[in-house]
Amino acid sequence: MSNAHYNGYSWQQRAKIMPAYRRLTGRNAPFEGEPCAMCSDPDRPQGEWHSEDYSEPFSFQPPESYPLCKPCHARLHKRFNSVPGEWELFCLHLEAGGYGSEFVKLRSLPDRQALSERIAAGHKVELPVIRARQPGSYWWRSLTLDPESLVAPWARPRPLRPRPDEAAFRLAFEEAGLSDRDIAFLRVHADAPRRTVTMRLLAQEALSKDDPKTANLLYGKLAGRLTSLLQWEPDLRDDGSPIWMSLLAEGWWPPGREYEWTMVPSVAEAVRSLVVRKAA
Ligand SMILES: [Zn+2]
Repeated sequence: MSNAHYNGYSWQQRAKIMPAYRRLTGRNAPFEGEPCAMCSDPDRPQGEWHSEDYSEPFSFQPPESYPLCKPCHARLHKRFNSVPGEWELFCLHLEAGGYGSEFVKLRSLPDRQALSERIAAGHKVELPVIRARQPGSYWWRSLTLDPESLVAPWARPRPLRPRPDEAAFRLAFEEAGLSDRDIAFLRVHADAPRRTVTMRLLAQEALSKDDPKTANLLYGKLAGRLTSLLQWEPDLRDDGSPIWMSLLAEGWWPPGREYEWTMVPSVAEAVRSLVVRKAA
């Protein structure tokens, strides 16, 4: 556990998972006796494990958490600032059946640099098979290389605080009697890349005007109505006033950009079913 952000979680949030596991199970670490979930090396130090998801309630099994060996764990976290092509080379090494610990043993630094450069230049690199390996999900292949994921809410698999589930949101949408404008807000938000928008973008797409203030007011009112229907406790500002939008989305201020809201997955799922039903 390093003192760093990962997948939109602060190091303080990340630090809670180990004591939580110990409290719950009375044991030190999960995955006892299991091989590395990346390279399959059975000689894995017990106590070495990795989480992609630090939202509560914590999960101590895939796809939220995995047993890893030290080299795979280190490479996974270093993937953002390794030399271009190196993470891909490491993935190819794993797919050729190599253990994480063999990556630097089998190839010299100049060799690894040359191969990484070839990959970064767009050339196809094939590595000789080291040992046969079971085909797997290769879950690490879908990990982002975007360093913004370290701090952005869009990287969190689940919102920090649990939200109502998709069925509850579907019911609330029905009870709320959504207007076309409400649906436009929800649909634009759910369909946005990474389910993330600024109020300016919402205004442009849903209201056809460059008026983020009005979008904030109207979308916030809708969120407030839904919060009441769902009887959910919204996040509060420092002055104690409710942040209605927190029902639907998690917000953050990216450096040099306008405030962004990432719609939580259960809302996006409910919006998709709403759109399908409307179209049917
Ligand atoms: Zn490994």
